[in-house]
Amino acid sequence: MQWLLADLHIHSTFSDGTIRIEEIIKIYGEAGFDAIAITDHLFDTQSPISLRLREEEKSVKDVEAYFHKIEEVSLWAKESYDLLVIPGLEICNLLEDYHILGIDLKEPLNPNQDAMGVINEIHRQGGLAIASHPQLKLSYFLNGDNESIQRHPLHLWKHRDRYVDKIDAWEIANREDLFGIVSLAGLPYVANSDFHDRGHISSWKSLIFAEKNKDSVKKAISERKLSLFFFNPNEAKKELPRFQIPKENDESSGGSVQTGEEKILIVDDEEEIVDLVAYHLKGKGYQTLTAYNGFEALEKVQSEAPEVMILDLMMPELDGWELCQIIRRHDNEAIRGISILMLSARAMPEDRVHGLHLGADEYLTKPISVNELILRVEKLIEKRKILGNLKGEMELLRSTTQEKEASLRKVVHDLKNPLISMGASAKRMLRRNQTEEDLNILRIIYESSLRLTRWVDEALLPAGLSPQRIKDEMKDVLIQAVVERAVDSIKDAAAEKGIEVHFSTSPCIPPIPCHEDWILRAIENLLANALKYTSGGGRIEVTVTSYLGWKELGIVEISVKDTGIGILAEEVGKIFEPFYRGKNVDNEPGLGLGLSLVKEVVDAHGGRILVQSEPKKGSTFSILLPVKNPNEKDVTEV
Ligand code: ADP
Repeated sequence: MQWLLADLHIHSTFSDGTIRIEEIIKIYGEAGFDAIAITDHLFDTQSPISLRLREEEKSVKDVEAYFHKIEEVSLWAKESYDLLVIPGLEICNLLEDYHILGIDLKEPLNPNQDAMGVINEIHRQGGLAIASHPQLKLSYFLNGDNESIQRHPLHLWKHRDRYVDKIDAWEIANREDLFGIVSLAGLPYVANSDFHDRGHISSWKSLIFAEKNKDSVKKAISERKLSLFFFNPNEAKKELPRFQIPKENDESSGGSVQTGEEKILIVDDEEEIVDLVAYHLKGKGYQTLTAYNGFEALEKVQSEAPEVMILDLMMPELDGWELCQIIRRHDNEAIRGISILMLSARAMPEDRVHGLHLGADEYLTKPISVNELILRVEKLIEKRKILGNLKGEMELLRSTTQEKEASLRKVVHDLKNPLISMGASAKRMLRRNQTEEDLNILRIIYESSLRLTRWVDEALLPAGLSPQRIKDEMKDVLIQAVVERAVDSIKDAAAEKGIEVHFSTSPCIPPIPCHEDWILRAIENLLANALKYTSGGGRIEVTVTSYLGWKELGIVEISVKDTGIGILAEEVGKIFEPFYRGKNVDNEPGLGLGLSLVKEVVDAHGGRILVQSEPKKGSTFSILLPVKNPNEKDVTEV
């Protein structure tokens, strides 16, 4: 047992008090109190008088949230200040004119009933029922409201006989006229401050002889094991062992570095909220950083790149909205990706939408429930982890698929030329005199090679061709080397068919920005066509020429000229359409897709494809690609 300094009548901003619960804890904790009860108003809702009063005073609207809040701060109060916080209510009924303190309540109760009903409900919850005595309101005197002065809530006091066995204690001391009638009658009493703002802490208080727990305190009060004294915080400060909330970089935290854990930045100009949230997050093993204004927060964001930020919107100078926008537009990817949980006193749906629109991942309205806040933070961290893993897996999957696709395409592509020569040879032999049996076998070989060539063409269809992807993956490439590679790849087939292939290039062609693989495919298609549509004894000429202009821009031309069947004049405009095949192609295999691919690739490079042709004489296809002239200074650089 010890003497506990107590105040069991305190109002917070949940009703008409001016100070938030977190700050109340701090004030009482630092003043050395042992036990307090938070007792916000719960008014009846039926009486018209009460409605009038309710306009002047506030009442707890969401009692459950209120109890929840007290429970959340209790642990913090205990560990930080060794302060016992008891949940309570001041139940007020204006019709019957009573104010009753319920100390140690667990759930809401109904204020729309007579005093006896309320006292019974308090007792059913195991609570203590104290008759409170709010002071007369100044406004009654100012307005000359004699009726209210007469009616001020002294119902319990006027009818003491009726309640003497029911009320556990009578609140005295801030009305000296009441002390005598209670104390002298031998009734249990208690002195509280009826705290609404900071100044009220200087008032009569109780020293209760009890263990520091709720039951012992309640028992001691009803057994009159208490003493009254006038408390003045400046004179009567008790020195108590304190549990300090470790601040960041505080050496007293024992240097326990929680490496590997997520960093959470808490930004709010209300220090108690920051301390309370940091305390709970640390308890969960997270590293916490704190900032009390927008600029400080921005500095910490840049230097520490936390994973999650709890961001209050209402801050002086740089507010939460602006900070959120700065972060979402930041150059650094890690900073842009910080998960943001916004806190706001604005509960309108459009504010929430605006917050989410600006890039918040979560939006909570104040007053906050710390438990809910922590839960949301944990969910955000979980989401980050899942997303991070998914991103990694997708990257891996993409690169392996790309590798596989590339090697498969290469294999398929390499099949094409031998297949074409196989088909061409079979066709040549078909024209010679053969036995019926040989002709059948040759026909099978020819048709099979034709079918296989089609399949190869289909397999090489440009599934991965997207103009954006081509642009994104462009690099500076020595184009003459790429063309030469394509020419080399048809040399054998050309020799077999008796076609001469010639390659030439102008000197000093600067590297040109292009997608090497796709440009190679386009040139190969032109060469395959030249080979296909030119008979033995013909010639294919491939040239790379650069035309560098007088300013920074120039052109590189890749042309493929053959002496083949040529293209009918009326078809020249159609051959780049997908699946279009010339009327003069006879039995040459093909799907009519080669040139449409060439056009797509060239367009994606910002180039042009031209064709000149004369039937039975030959065709020339030219790819024109834009190039920067390295000899000229870029006008934009000047
Ligand atoms: P495919 O060769 O499979 O028919 P393409 O899209 O490559 O399909 O060509 C479309 C058409 O253009 C061909 O069918 C042919 O009529 C004509 N063509 C393309 N290249 C040549 C060429 N070098 N000589 C003559 N005609 C050609």
